[in-house]
Amino acid sequence: MAQSAIELVIASNNQHKVNEIRESAPPGFIFSTLADNNFTLELPETTGTIKGNAMQKARTFWELTGLNCLADDSGLIIDALNGRPGVDSAFYAGLPKNDDANIKKVLSELSGVDDRSAYFITVMALIINGKECFFEGIVDGSIAQSPSGNHGFGYDPVFIPEGESRTFAQMSSSEKNAMSHRSRALGQVVKFLNEQLQNI
Ligand code: IMP
Repeated sequence: MAQSAIELVIASNNQHKVNEIRESAPPGFIFSTLADNNFTLELPETTGTIKGNAMQKARTFWELTGLNCLADDSGLIIDALNGRPGVDSAFYAGLPKNDDANIKKVLSELSGVDDRSAYFITVMALIINGKECFFEGIVDGSIAQSPSGNHGFGYDPVFIPEGESRTFAQMSSSEKNAMSHRSRALGQVVKFLNEQLQNI
């Protein structure tokens, strides 16, 4: 008998993340959005850590709906800035969230700094049948001197992954998804779920 698809709700209102997760997922996985499930509440992200926020978003959604879900919390870690913007990546330049202002702040703080090494991290919190698991994806790279490219979102115009000369924003979505922190974390989620199914 054919294996039925695994269905998960992506506990995120960030359409870029939703698109990247959907594009990176293999056949056999169906990802619905909060909107598809008529879920309109804002999910809290107040723990102060990336892993904590991923867990908080997934747990809040699970407690309110009982639906299997996947939450993604991500951030940019810059060595010369002692790990900032980190958990504050989305609102680094303050409220309301503004990607251009965040990039400007990072470039200004790195002005004249030689060490531009950085990495993106995604922590995914999966809740399946009430069981909670975490998966992490990292991509190493560096921060460009100025923004380039108009694909992607967030800090993509200034992040150059290791071994590349272009920023994420200069790459197609499939090129970014082949190496991104998000697709690496998702790869682990998929592996875990496939292994679980083998054992049923
Ligand atoms: P959060 O995970 O919703 O807390 O937001 C993470 C923030 O980190 C985003 O708003 C972006 O500014 C940044 N970020 C996370 N992943 C990426 C990415 O793949 N490209 C560029 N910026 C990202």
